[in-house]
Amino acid sequence: MGFDEFLEKGSIAEEPVLTAGDLARGHLKPTRGLTFRPYWWEAAPRQHTSPALPKRSDVVIVGSGFTGLSAALTLLRHGRSVVVLERGVPGYGASTRNGGQIGSGNQKFRVKRLIELRGPAKAAAMLREGVRMLDYIEHLIATEKIACHFKRCGRFRAAVQPEHYESMARDMEDLHAIADVESFMVPKSELHSEIGTDVFFGGSILPQDASLHPGLYHAGLMQRIQEGGGHIIGNAAAQDISGDEHDGHSITTPLGSIKARDVIIATNGYTDGLVPELGRRIVPIGSGLIATGEIPEDTLSRLLPKNRVYGNTNRVFYYFRAAPGERRLIWGGRVGRLANNTSPLAFRHLARDMLHVFPELADVPVTHGWDGTIGYTYDEVPHLGRAATGMYYALGYCGTGVSRATYFGNKIALQLLGRSDGRTAFDDLSFPSFPVHTLAKRAVPVVETWYRFLDATKR
Ligand SMILES: Cc1cc2nc3c(=O)[nH]c(=O)nc-3n(C[C@H](O)[C@H](O)[C@H](O)COP(=O)(O)OP(=O)(O)OC[C@H]3O[C@@H](n4cnc5c(N)ncnc54)[C@H](O)[C@@H]3O)c2cc1C
Repeated sequence: MGFDEFLEKGSIAEEPVLTAGDLARGHLKPTRGLTFRPYWWEAAPRQHTSPALPKRSDVVIVGSGFTGLSAALTLLRHGRSVVVLERGVPGYGASTRNGGQIGSGNQKFRVKRLIELRGPAKAAAMLREGVRMLDYIEHLIATEKIACHFKRCGRFRAAVQPEHYESMARDMEDLHAIADVESFMVPKSELHSEIGTDVFFGGSILPQDASLHPGLYHAGLMQRIQEGGGHIIGNAAAQDISGDEHDGHSITTPLGSIKARDVIIATNGYTDGLVPELGRRIVPIGSGLIATGEIPEDTLSRLLPKNRVYGNTNRVFYYFRAAPGERRLIWGGRVGRLANNTSPLAFRHLARDMLHVFPELADVPVTHGWDGTIGYTYDEVPHLGRAATGMYYALGYCGTGVSRATYFGNKIALQLLGRSDGRTAFDDLSFPSFPVHTLAKRAVPVVETWYRFLDATKR
């Protein structure tokens, strides 16, 4: 045993690990075993290499998440040279930090509300495209042969109030009528066929929703891009972009500058003032997750008998699932506000929520806690298109981005190539700014607290 291993296994092995019960109660000593990095990075460690910055490329993509990589892969497959610039380590952002739950985004609005906002024809087109996004990610993973535990496991959305069950049932009927989406309801009397708890009032199942391992999916995309001759360069923040669509763009980074005919901005929740007209249209919102240690097999199969992905109907909701191939639970929700993300306190509320649903997990260790940033838009739909200076963009997935970022990345690349199959139902939507952007950013905790109050008081 080496010294480091001795330190890890030998000297402090006597200390008990931090359990979910300790964390929920705020008994934070000892914290052995809790690390503050994404669980997904264990199987897919981040690559720290920074190859030299080429002098020029057909296309430069800013941001190395699913949007940027999906766009890069499409462009490479159509014979374009591509450089992906990343401020941090490649895959630093939400794409390797998320819950790995794959949906269509169709549950962001009730169908009736979407029709009120957009009219019946546009609402139908958007909802049908949501279904195609799910099909697209499955197709991409299969054709690129990416081993990432993709599975059409279905989603269980748990009703936290009896009224939520009724309104979900009506919404599922509307969804079927307008976009042919398959679903079914599970009444409270049959709850245990789906989940081992009594705290919910039944729920809905979307059997076509899916799950994957986000770290492995991201690593697989990176590998295909590198095999195809694309460059993904870490520690290379785009600091300034000058030029236009006629003369091309010059992008300044700490590693030097690079020229490109076209640029795609794929920075979603990490969008800042680089392109001010996009910065004004995105508000970053934090989301946090914890991973538990091993749960006994019979317990886990009683709690999650169908091994789906799960969420609830609250405005400030939580979401959870088992880790693929392991007997751990991954539990996500709002980000901790009272402590920074390298303190166990930042994750206490997640353990509390988890034990409210599954009290028998109190003795299970908590091994990972991490957070990330989602990109919210004012109208709560994602947007893609061209900014004033001719740069392309795709962003604003409002927390449902595994399939949507993959799909929008592909579509924005096809639009850049001038192809008619790049068109989407989202192309002609106006992209509103937040009325007072700095206030909107500061208001996030206030709005969230208000929503939690409404959730708690059953309004
Ligand atoms: C904690 C969490 C849980 C989530 N869970 C789910 C889920 O279960 N299901 C789901 O569908 N969605 C989920 N999402 C949302 C989903 O992960 C995102 O919508 C999606 O990954 C966005 O991908 P992206 O490529 O657009 O952005 P990101 O993956 O965030 O990548 C943007 C990248 O841009 C980089 N960047 C920013 N500025 C610059 C610059 N100037 N120069 C260079 N690089 C720059 C950032 O460092 C970042 O790496 C979750 C998000 C979070 C944070």
